[in-house]
Amino acid sequence: MNRTKIEWTNFSWNPVTGCKHGCWYCYANRLFTRFHRSFEPTFYPDRLDEPYKLKKPSKIFVCSVADLFATWTLPYWRDMVLEVIENCPIQHIFQLLTKNPERIPTDYKFPNNVWVGTTVTNENRDWRNIEMIKAVNAKVKFVSFEPLLGRIPHDSGLKGIDWVIIGKLTGSRRVKLDPEWVSEILAETKHYGIPVFMKDNLFQATIKTQDESLDSREKQQEFPRND
Ligand code: SF4
Repeated sequence: MNRTKIEWTNFSWNPVTGCKHGCWYCYANRLFTRFHRSFEPTFYPDRLDEPYKLKKPSKIFVCSVADLFATWTLPYWRDMVLEVIENCPIQHIFQLLTKNPERIPTDYKFPNNVWVGTTVTNENRDWRNIEMIKAVNAKVKFVSFEPLLGRIPHDSGLKGIDWVIIGKLTGSRRVKLDPEWVSEILAETKHYGIPVFMKDNLFQATIKTQDESLDSREKQQEFPRND
């Protein structure tokens, strides 16, 4: 379990690492490669008890460098991770993020302290995942638009979503953020009263990507109501 710089959480817990989605912008893959570590999906049972050792209730991003619901994640890995979450006596908030929301069994009820989200970038029409995450039986269902790589169609439908994260691509000049893409999402979240967490990187112009930075007066860093 590590403290993380990811602004919307406190810790990352990685009992599974490695991912085969093959996203060209994957920071985790680059990091693993730099340290000569395999990015093949791997299970670490010895890390399962880490949330129990953290006594202060915290936000925990589960499998930040893997996808717990992907096809290659063995069912028993996933079940053991969910068992720890279900039995954890400390009231952490566990945050799960997947690119395969369609694989989450809709008859499984997540405990109320679990937030379940899907990543939407605008590649491969992945905004269709928004409908899938709405079908999940969790108290908090969220969408992470990070890295936001294009305009999300208006009819993607955020109504029924409990939290939205927006962040931009960093470390690459391949896609330059258009502030209008962000404004359109914000208009929709405002319309439906959805809390939004805008990552700091939206407000930092980088020379490398020649991005425009957003006006910091627009900054909202909200969390869902989890009561
Ligand atoms: S889903 Fe996440 S961890 Fe997997 S390749 Fe894409 S960015 Fe990397």
